[in-house]
Amino acid sequence: MPAWHASILTLYPDMFPGPLGLSLSGRALESGLWQCDTVNIRGFAADRHRTVDDTPAGGGAGMVLRADVLASAIDAAAPDNDTRPRLMMSPRGRPLTQRRVRELVAGPGVVLVCGRFEGVDQRVIDGRGLEEVSIGDYVLSGGEVAAMAVLDACIRLIPGVMGTQASGEDESFENGLLEYPHYTRPALWEGTAIPEVLTSGDHAAVARWRHDQALRLTRERRPDLLTDDDATGRTS
Ligand code: SAM
Repeated sequence: MPAWHASILTLYPDMFPGPLGLSLSGRALESGLWQCDTVNIRGFAADRHRTVDDTPAGGGAGMVLRADVLASAIDAAAPDNDTRPRLMMSPRGRPLTQRRVRELVAGPGVVLVCGRFEGVDQRVIDGRGLEEVSIGDYVLSGGEVAAMAVLDACIRLIPGVMGTQASGEDESFENGLLEYPHYTRPALWEGTAIPEVLTSGDHAAVARWRHDQALRLTRERRPDLLTDDDATGRTS
């Protein structure tokens, strides 16, 4: 099977693979479980100054990435017969969910477009069918860090990347709940002991305790998850 394939369109190709070249994702990259290439958007500028941006129509602050330049870069990176989803990093996009991450991992890979400046010309978003994706309700200076977050979330779920022990099934969002708290040695630390049930050896009691804790944390911090089956991919 061909490796899961990420193509990243950016004005800063040297940022990749960056942190994704280390640790779990770095080892997976080295062993060919995923592959990544970058496309420098500036390489598709048509004038001798290599201009990629221009002033916003209608006035206002900042600059906007030109539709013609970005479209040429997308067409070169992902021709019509490329079935990979094309994601545009954008604070006004749909928030990325664990469900969407699992869908992306099940496919052949992704094409990620990193915005800069005030954003990109709307016509290229519409014309090239870009899915706008946000990694949170805050504004980054560019889409590269957002693209790395998307990739990191996907790569760890590629079969073979995590050991069999850590399948990720118990983690936050996977069952509609945040994860329960963890403890390890020492048994007593700064006067606080590990909850007794976790050292009792009673597996059913441990499972009950963990579920109760997960429910408590979710109610406190993310009550929206308890009603949002779509975000979590929960089916029951
Ligand atoms: N003017 C835009 C707005 O208010 O929505 C913000 C542009 S931001 C300075 C530049 C680029 O960073 C965006 O085009 C996008 O690619 C990326 N970006 C910023 N925040 C992001 C977020 N929360 N999620 C995903 N991408 C983001």
